[in-house]
Amino acid sequence: MDSIKTKIKKNDKVMVIAGKDKGKTGKILTIIKSLNKAKVEGINLVKKHAKPTHKSAGGIVDIEAPIHLSNLMLICAKCTEATKVGYKLLQDGEKIRICKKCGETIPVDL
Ligand SMILES: [Zn+2]
Repeated sequence: MDSIKTKIKKNDKVMVIAGKDKGKTGKILTIIKSLNKAKVEGINLVKKHAKPTHKSAGGIVDIEAPIHLSNLMLICAKCTEATKVGYKLLQDGEKIRICKKCGETIPVDL
């Protein structure tokens, strides 16, 4: 089955479609496949106590907590809207992602 977890990749720009950060956008930092979750830059921030290091004084910092992939939608660079991702098979057999709204290719930026 073609599950949602294969559609969103690292460095994709996504919009949050559910939860407290609904409507916000950010870039995928990490995908945790085993949990079907991803960390998104600036999204789902939680406070965490950090120990002082030689780089920072420590204290309370904001870190991204993983958010479920079903709460995220890819943003198409062309229509700049959250969109559904489709697939197109190229003649050489390569499968590429496309925007279901405008048909634009969505490159994988690894
Ligand atoms: Zn589009």
